[in-house]
Amino acid sequence: MEKTDIKSLRLEEVQAWMQSHGEPAYRAKQLYEWMHIKGVTEFAQMHNLSKSLREKLEAECALTVLRQVEVQISKIDGTRKYLFALPDGNIIESVWMKYQHGNSVCVSSQAGCRMGCRFCASTIDGLARNLTPAEMLEQIYRIQADTGERVSNVVIMGSGEPLDNYENVVQFLRMISDENGLHISERNLTLSTCGLVPNMYRLAEEGLHVTMALSLHAPNDKMRQELMPVANKYHLEEVIGACKYYFQKTGRRITFEYSLVSGVNDSNQAAKELAKLVQGLNCHINLIPVNAIKERNFVQSEKKRIQAFQKLLENNQINVTIRREMGRDINGACGQLRKRYLEEAGEQGNMHGSV
Ligand code: SAH
Repeated sequence: MEKTDIKSLRLEEVQAWMQSHGEPAYRAKQLYEWMHIKGVTEFAQMHNLSKSLREKLEAECALTVLRQVEVQISKIDGTRKYLFALPDGNIIESVWMKYQHGNSVCVSSQAGCRMGCRFCASTIDGLARNLTPAEMLEQIYRIQADTGERVSNVVIMGSGEPLDNYENVVQFLRMISDENGLHISERNLTLSTCGLVPNMYRLAEEGLHVTMALSLHAPNDKMRQELMPVANKYHLEEVIGACKYYFQKTGRRITFEYSLVSGVNDSNQAAKELAKLVQGLNCHINLIPVNAIKERNFVQSEKKRIQAFQKLLENNQINVTIRREMGRDINGACGQLRKRYLEEAGEQGNMHGSV
């Protein structure tokens, strides 16, 4: 019998589990607190639960815990990049960043990714598998335990396409903002998507007021198709339509991510077209100097070009910022740390699990 993934269940689901096992409902709250606030890693440590209940849990439930494989700490700004092993040996990465307004964690939603964006390292080896809600929560719990500091912001911008793992990601968002758990405000949660239109509409209906970041990267379909295969499936008109709907439903301003690639999408003409595309939308554009990855020959735009691009947008009254580079000394684009690790592990012939 497959064990119940108890840490992926919401409080009312844990209550139902308790009831079906002849336990009073209040036990659920105790268990939930051990898992999601105190963050213990074994049922045996939950000493206010009866021995017989702990035995039942041990026999029937899995308590998902991530194992820290590696951490790199920036000497410049304290940014930490973590590699974690999932219970089945798959490897993912998460990043912790310290800002004035609080600590932020960038979580992965899948091991690998199948979206195929040309400049992204996470997608090169394809998708290994979806992460469970518990595996997304654990990235934050382990990082809090390691740093000893509370996390107040979460961005789903690690490896994976969150809207390609829809149910688990929505469950994760509900649990991380739940008052019985870490209780991170919905407005401090950001989901970044390459633009899976049907699930953007679905998310708008969930009653979750999380910020949507849309990976735009180009002002027209032709240019976008060169960078992102998903652009062949959903045209910009549909994607922008879904963004408008999301704003109407949630009142949350959309963030557009635009990674600048030298000679590809960083011309004045592209900036003007971009300004036109988002004109009148309640949005914000985040310019990201593309992180070069060794598997592709994309080059970062020069600083002057980036500034000129920004200026053109500003002249058209568009809110725009250039993303501050965090942890420059431990730099590495999304997914690169994991990829390097897998390559090294592969060379040594000790690859883990199904990766
Ligand atoms: N699948 C989600 C999350 C991806 S990572 C999405 O597509 O939005 C978050 C952001 O980083 C995305 O905008 C992604 O396009 C961007 N990104 C990925 N690799 C990058 C690189 N090498 N340089 C700059 N931005 C990159």
